[in-house]
Amino acid sequence: WWRGAEFEMGVEEEAGKKMGVFDKIINKEIPVNEVYEDDKVLAFRDISPQAPTHILLIPKIKDGLTGLSKAEERHCQILGHLLYTAKVVAKQEGLDEGFRTVINDGPNGCQYVDHIHVHLLGGRQMNWPPG
Ligand code: 5GP
Repeated sequence: WWRGAEFEMGVEEEAGKKMGVFDKIINKEIPVNEVYEDDKVLAFRDISPQAPTHILLIPKIKDGLTGLSKAEERHCQILGHLLYTAKVVAKQEGLDEGFRTVINDGPNGCQYVDHIHVHLLGGRQMNWPPG
């Protein structure tokens, strides 16, 4: 029996290691400054803000959507919901003069976290072209 227990613990630890940072945030294992939550989406302040307002919006269920380049037709609803929520949160944050949404994808797009996320940036004049 002890071998069984040991094996189960090993599996759990392994699963924990494989869990990405945003999964841990969804599971409330990593505390964040939340600004919005519903049954599908969580929005929280970026730990390293690039503007006075810098919020990340993520789907609570990843469903293979590690990045926009992995999107399938079944993801259309959650993708729309993420963008719509960005607008709702922008209003909640008082970004009435405008804001920017960004989805980084892959190495060239400077994506570091493999769980699709929309950056919502505002509170200052943005530049174009972006860096
Ligand atoms: P990416 O470069 O993948 O598009 O953006 C990932 C973002 O996640 C970065 O802006 C980074 O600052 C943010 N981030 C990474 N780890 C954490 C964390 O543990 N908490 C919060 N609030 N933001 C994080």
